[in-house]
Amino acid sequence: DWLMRSLFAYDLVGFQSEADVAHFSRYVGTETGADILGEHEFRAFGKTLQVQAFPIGIDVDEFIGLGEAPEAQEMHTQMRDEYSRRRLLLGVERLDYSKGLPQRLNAFRQLLQAYPENLGSATLIQIAAPSRESVDAYAALRQELESLCGAINGNFGELDWMPVRYIHRNVARKRLPGLYRAASVALVTPLRDGMNLVAKEFVAAQDPADPGVLVLSRFAGAAEQMRDALLVNPYDTTRTAETIQRALQMPLEERQRRHQALLAGIREQDVHWWRKRFLAALAAVPAP
Ligand code: UDP
Repeated sequence: DWLMRSLFAYDLVGFQSEADVAHFSRYVGTETGADILGEHEFRAFGKTLQVQAFPIGIDVDEFIGLGEAPEAQEMHTQMRDEYSRRRLLLGVERLDYSKGLPQRLNAFRQLLQAYPENLGSATLIQIAAPSRESVDAYAALRQELESLCGAINGNFGELDWMPVRYIHRNVARKRLPGLYRAASVALVTPLRDGMNLVAKEFVAAQDPADPGVLVLSRFAGAAEQMRDALLVNPYDTTRTAETIQRALQMPLEERQRRHQALLAGIREQDVHWWRKRFLAALAAVPAP
C-alpha cells in the first residue's frame, strides 16, 4: 500500500520491459481498486498515473570508443595471449541473488560433464563484484559460490587448466570492453533482471568479423529486445548447458548474422532513444 501510494505520486512511471508494465498494471487493477482509464492509465489515491515501458540502452559509440582506448586494448591482448589455447566464457555482474550465479555454475559443470571435448579448454571467468556486503544473504551467497567453484575446479581441473576463474572484485569499466571482446561466449543468465546492461555492452564490444555469442536469460529485461541472442531459462540446467555448447560450436556465419542483428538493435534503441522517448512521454502527460 505504501509503495503504491508512493508510485501514484508520479505522473509517469517507466518500466524496463513490457512484461513489467503488464505485471504492474495487473497488480494495480486487482489490488489497489484503481480506476482503469486506459490501457496504461490509472486513477487512485486522488492521482492519475501513466505507465509505459522505456527499456534503457547504452551509448554504443561511447562504449566502442572505450574499447579502442589503451586500457581495454591492453586487457584484450593480455587475455588473448593467456587463453590462446582455450575457449573463454565470461560472466560479469554484481554478486547478487538475482543474477543466477549458482544456477550458471551448475550449468557450466553440466557442460563439462555432458560434453567432455570442453575439458582442458572451456574456461569460465566469473567476475562477481562485491555488493551489499553487510547483508547476511549476500555473505551466504558468496560462500555458496566459492564452494561451487572450488568443487568444479577440484573435480575437473588439471595441473595446467582450471575450469573456473572466480573473481570477487570489481573490474574497472575501462577494462571491460577488452575482457568482453576476448570471450567466445557471454553468460548473462539472471533469474530476474530489470534490464541487464552487461548484455548490451558485450555485443557492442565484439569484433564484427569474429564475434562472440550471447547466452541470455529470458528473464532479463534485455531479452525482449535481444531476440537474436540464445535465450535460456536459467532454472533449466540441462538445456542451459546444451545452449552453451551450441554457442561454443556456432559457425562463424551464424555468429556474424546474430551479432549484426543485435548490434543494429542496441544502436537503434540506445540511451539517447531511451531519453527522448521518456521525456516525450512526460511532456505529453496532461497537466493536472
Ligand atoms: N560493471 C563494472 N565492473 C564490474 C561489474 C559491472 O563496471 O566489475 C558495470 C557494467 O559494465 C554495467 C553495470 O556495472 O555497466 C551493471 O549494470 P547491469 O544493468 O548489467 O546490472 P545491475 O548491476 O544494474 O543489476
